[in-house]
Amino acid sequence: MSAPLFEKIALVGIGLIGSSLARVIRREGLASHIAIATRSPETLKRAEELGLGGSYSTNAAEAVKDADLVIVSVPVGSSGTVAEEIAPALKAGAILTDVGSTKGSVIAQMKPHVPAGVHFIPGHPLAGTEKSGPDAGFAELFENRWCILTPLPDTDPEAVEKLSEFWRRCGSNIDTMDPEHHDMVLAIVSHLPHIIAYNIVGTADDLAAVTKSEVIKYSASGFRDFTRIAASDPTMWRDVCLHNKDAILEMLARFSEDLASLQRAIRWGDGEKLFDLFTRTRAIRRSIIEAGQEIDAPDFGRQVVAHPEKLAKS
Ligand code: NAP
Repeated sequence: MSAPLFEKIALVGIGLIGSSLARVIRREGLASHIAIATRSPETLKRAEELGLGGSYSTNAAEAVKDADLVIVSVPVGSSGTVAEEIAPALKAGAILTDVGSTKGSVIAQMKPHVPAGVHFIPGHPLAGTEKSGPDAGFAELFENRWCILTPLPDTDPEAVEKLSEFWRRCGSNIDTMDPEHHDMVLAIVSHLPHIIAYNIVGTADDLAAVTKSEVIKYSASGFRDFTRIAASDPTMWRDVCLHNKDAILEMLARFSEDLASLQRAIRWGDGEKLFDLFTRTRAIRRSIIEAGQEIDAPDFGRQVVAHPEKLAKS
């Protein structure tokens, strides 16, 4: 194990992402001290039982005092409130980052509170599961996943490099891009698929003609794969929808157009069109497997590789 990258890391929010960070920071020896803060005494108690940190508080300002790196891992709609709460306690020279799934909105909420001398570098690890809370995390979550940083134009490059090194030591590959681009890309690769999954599972749930027991009994026909995504945390996804509104509406408009065209092909028996589309999409799946972002196994494969014991529970 090499020397700690930071003396003190403060984790504000200790759910799936925060607790996975705590576990990998400890495993890799990335900090001499991990301070943990969360809003509720129940979650804090659980984090303490799991031994995720060195100190625990429901007061985020107290936890970030003297920290060299502060990572905010709360639902994106709460980023501004958290930034306001911790701002007066942030140490000059500290790096402040977040893991939120939207970037434009998080920057708009947090930046006005960030004191001069603190390096604010927004970030987003493209790693997750449908589970939440401190029990759901695991140290391998970020392995071979991308972490996108969206540094602001005046950010100190040395601070960006230090944060990039942190994520590399967590197992991730780093990309940097501007926040607007991030929000557009994530709208198509993550936000739209979640909205489609929520929608299709909702539609099946509403169907009076098909009983619920049949939906569940025959779910392996395809439906099941959507239910995993549609089991994702409602608070997190409500906030994502509300905080990446423009990009999501743009992608939904394109999606609806394409769906209408598909509907037309089915109505008019245009088999060639259907076959061409289904062939094109199959190639995308192959590229994802070749890029090492998935294995060629059913059930999305992810947990089989990353965390075999969790598979049994899911
Ligand atoms: P999570 O497991 O539900 O944990 C959320 C944490 O935030 C908990 O510590 C919770 O505290 C705290 N929190 C909730 N509401 C809060 C509020 N109003 N004010 C202050 N703290 C609050 O969530 P997660 O999956 O770790 O997600 C955290 C962030 O990571 C989100 O911004 C999400 O967009 C992003 N992200 C998630 C994924 C994913 O797949 N889950 C992937 C990449 C990025 P209490 O339990 O004490 O209330």
